[in-house]
Amino acid sequence: MMELESGDVALLVGTVVDFAGVTRGKGVPVRRLTTFHESGMGASPSWNVFCVDNGIAFTSTIGVTGDLRLRLDPDRVRRIDTGLAWGPANFHNQDGSLSPLCARGRLAAIVDDAAGQGLFPLMGTELEFTLTTLDGERLPKTSWAAYGMKAVVAHREFLVDLTRTLEKASVWPEQIHAEYGEDQFEVSLAPASPVAMADACVLTRILIGIVAARHDMAVSFSPLPWAGGAGNGAHLHLSLARENAPLFGGGEGPHGITADGGSAIAGILAGLNDFLGIYAGSVVSAQRLQPGSWSGASACWGLENREAAVRFLAGTAGNPHGANVELKIVDPSANIYLAAAALLGSALNGINAKLALPAEVGINPADSPGKDVMALNTEHAMILKALEHSELAARVLGPDIVEGVAAVRRHELEQYADKTPAEIAEAVRFAWSV
Ligand code: GLU
Ligand code: MG
Repeated sequence: MMELESGDVALLVGTVVDFAGVTRGKGVPVRRLTTFHESGMGASPSWNVFCVDNGIAFTSTIGVTGDLRLRLDPDRVRRIDTGLAWGPANFHNQDGSLSPLCARGRLAAIVDDAAGQGLFPLMGTELEFTLTTLDGERLPKTSWAAYGMKAVVAHREFLVDLTRTLEKASVWPEQIHAEYGEDQFEVSLAPASPVAMADACVLTRILIGIVAARHDMAVSFSPLPWAGGAGNGAHLHLSLARENAPLFGGGEGPHGITADGGSAIAGILAGLNDFLGIYAGSVVSAQRLQPGSWSGASACWGLENREAAVRFLAGTAGNPHGANVELKIVDPSANIYLAAAALLGSALNGINAKLALPAEVGINPADSPGKDVMALNTEHAMILKALEHSELAARVLGPDIVEGVAAVRRHELEQYADKTPAEIAEAVRFAWSV
């Protein structure tokens, strides 16, 4: 912290992510760091239920009265730009206790639960995003090549600046590349403990926004920036270990999956419809989850199956991080802390209930005879209902969070009910940008 105070930093911003997936924050002069951590800065409980259009979706526990404290996590604070430092924050009550509305605190609690059972999770995430002009239009047309070197050359100044900026802020990208869709790129982050992963994801989005602006561009983190175009995912990778022994490798099951590892996968699959409103619950999310878009739109698992909701990655010489599962259906409209909590919570639920690993799907699920059984909910209203009525979601996230998420997403559903897909895509194109 001394380093901050003796350096050029003037402003320190602490961020939280609301239930609609939007990052919000409060700043203090850097000399107030300790107060920001110990007492916190005031924020109305409604901060959690601000909507993508800045409407407010009040719930039975969130109204116009009351106050929460945004308390900075001092261990994660770092300088991120000239004069500017950042850190993640938790929502506390005025008496100092953690608020049941705090998404980051909820994730930490589930990680603690896992530790109590001797289980240690690591998570990684992939940030897909689409570059636009500063006024939000498509970049001038080029002949885009998916994963093409052409895009790297065309945007090299942005990409080099981004790489440097991320590493300078102690964010450790594993890969940076052009994606499939036009003007779409991806940064994937190294595995870390879940809260650290989610914090790094929030910071990476901020830095992508800062660097893009330096190069006269804006960034869309919408699950579907243009109707009918390529979607942006926010895939989550999970590995679990018990006493240093991985659950997804070295066992007797298919591809070395252990019995607990199989139950974890079964739990993730069993929780998909309950948690779809958390993973991909925005008004444009279901449009992204189309078969054939590698967004994992089928409720099944398979080795390196990019059309399965759960892609299994075996531990091989080519995969030094070891075996893990990738949940592909998550998109960037999700609150990353809640998505990670839902993923870990469902895996733990599968382990505790000793659920059996379902049969692997080794082909494109769209070509499978069981394709109807594997179809996920696609109706927004149904997705929200499943979340609201889920006993699992209430247990993993707590009823106040579930009610709040359903409220902000229902606001989107109602607000955009009479709009075309193109109009909806345009309305929320920059809702999740920083
Ligand atoms: N853009 C795809 C999605 O929406 C993912 C493409 C990939 O496999 O990286 O999830
Ligand atoms: Mg990708």
